[in-house]
Amino acid sequence: MSVVLETRGLTKAFGGLVAVNDVSLQLHKGELLALIGPNGAGKSTCFNMLMGQLRPTKGSVHLMGEDITGLSPRVIWRRGVGRTFQITATYASMTVVENVQMALLSHNHQVLKVLPYAHKMHRDRAHELLEMVGMAEQADRHCAVLAYGDLKRLELAIALAHEPTLLLMDEPTAGMAPRERIALMQLTADIVRDQGVSVLFTEHDMDVVFAHSHRIMVLNRGQLIADGNVEAIRNDPRVQEVYLGG
Ligand code: ADP
Ligand code: MG
Repeated sequence: MSVVLETRGLTKAFGGLVAVNDVSLQLHKGELLALIGPNGAGKSTCFNMLMGQLRPTKGSVHLMGEDITGLSPRVIWRRGVGRTFQITATYASMTVVENVQMALLSHNHQVLKVLPYAHKMHRDRAHELLEMVGMAEQADRHCAVLAYGDLKRLELAIALAHEPTLLLMDEPTAGMAPRERIALMQLTADIVRDQGVSVLFTEHDMDVVFAHSHRIMVLNRGQLIADGNVEAIRNDPRVQEVYLGG
């Protein structure tokens, strides 16, 4: 299986605090990989280094075999590392399909050049993406009136508009009801399967993690303490200690 993302000895220190400590991981094509661990374990710090928001203190990040360590968020995004964003107020006044069209325009470097015709561009592809995330029926609704769970699905469609090789989702289901969480991750798993995109995500709800992950890595105090499939992680005494032993 081809390696999409690899970190080697990834480390981030904030003063004396080593938030991420010597993390080496691999993510393969078409894989849905969960990074879990208690609050403060270093998950978001890891994500921020992968996205270029934070520069590692030590170690490196490789995308499809190329060293991307220290590149800017914009450049890393252009190389095919997508992420789910919060929908900003700017887009609340537009419809669902227009939001996806905007993302497609941006992906094609077209925003400023073609703005007067923007409403006609990429409509078919936008509808296709909305179909993919189960939002076809809501295409012409304004974002301002969407339920939270639907905004999250729209976010996913917007991320997919950029045709990412790798999608990073840091707590994508935060703030959602349990049933919505399972549904969003089910959708993500379907997209991984059908589109061949690879996903690295964090999630604190173990039911969601165990339901859909292909593989799970466990971070504790900045260090990877376990890496395996659902069964292996569920039965790993070190993981049980971290989660139950306090
Ligand atoms: P998680 O996402 O797993 O909850 P974080 O990566 O957010 O964990 O945080 C890991 C540790 O690093 C925590 O102790 C946190 O307080 C610390 N930390 C995170 N960001 C910063 C920062 N910008 N400056 C100083 N400490 C930070
Ligand atoms: Mg976090």
